[in-house]
Amino acid sequence: MPKVDDGVYVQNAAKRFLSALPALVEDRQEGAVERLLDIATGQSVSWSRETLLAVKNVTAELGLELSPTGRWWDQIHRAWYRHWCLWRAAERDKAGVQKKEHIRRAFPFRQYSCIRAIYEPAAHNKLDGLVFRVDDPFWEYHDPPWDDGCACTAIPRMASWAERESVDVRSLEYVRNVLGVGPGPDEYRPGHASGATATKRLETDLRDLLRDAPIAVVEDPLAQELEACGTREETLIASRLAVATWTRILESVTPDGVVDGEIGEQLRERVRAKLRHWHEQLAFIERRIAQDGRDD
Ligand SMILES: [Zn+2]
Repeated sequence: MPKVDDGVYVQNAAKRFLSALPALVEDRQEGAVERLLDIATGQSVSWSRETLLAVKNVTAELGLELSPTGRWWDQIHRAWYRHWCLWRAAERDKAGVQKKEHIRRAFPFRQYSCIRAIYEPAAHNKLDGLVFRVDDPFWEYHDPPWDDGCACTAIPRMASWAERESVDVRSLEYVRNVLGVGPGPDEYRPGHASGATATKRLETDLRDLLRDAPIAVVEDPLAQELEACGTREETLIASRLAVATWTRILESVTPDGVVDGEIGEQLRERVRAKLRHWHEQLAFIERRIAQDGRDD
């Protein structure tokens, strides 16, 4: 039996899920998934800078940057954003501008600037506008980006500027003890950031998200449907619909002799759990209706 790797399996499973449920999937979402999947399929080994940009463009085109349209899409966007930050940290190290002696001499200070990006951790704003010597250990821990979601920058400043503005030059100690701002993850620190780490995390996150997509897309509308029911009969119909839907989904992810793998089994187990839950729900409402009939 030929084995296809889990990544391809997940993509195919997600596609089959979505194509089996046109009524529950908005066109917009379906198109986006196809495109994300195309990107994933073409880049199974490593994600290049171009790939990251492509994912960014897809999310931006969907307007996710300003208005995430749901839990799953928000997660896709967050996942992308996280890796975009790591990738920028790696690029920062590659450029190595801060290590160049002539630049350090010309600009002995750097001013921290936070633009409060959408996923920016709140602590970053506390550093906005502060000035540090270029050799202060502060930059060992807070050279932006220094955490998931960080879109901060640092502006090189000349000695004459610092004098003219009569700035208070701050230190790492001040940041730790007075502002109470701690370090970010080690992988962002200068010299520790790597494009390979960013790539690995993006691959893992997107695989997880692709695996969860069908569940998220189906689960919410079914739950809403049930919530909207006013009578036992309506609840009965909604429960039957849910059981039929999850049964169809389970059929669509049954191994067909070509696909295999741990992720496929995890996915099927999750669908089975959903189906069990809805079977119980259906049995419960059927019992109640039978009871009502006897009471009359
Ligand atoms: Zn930041």
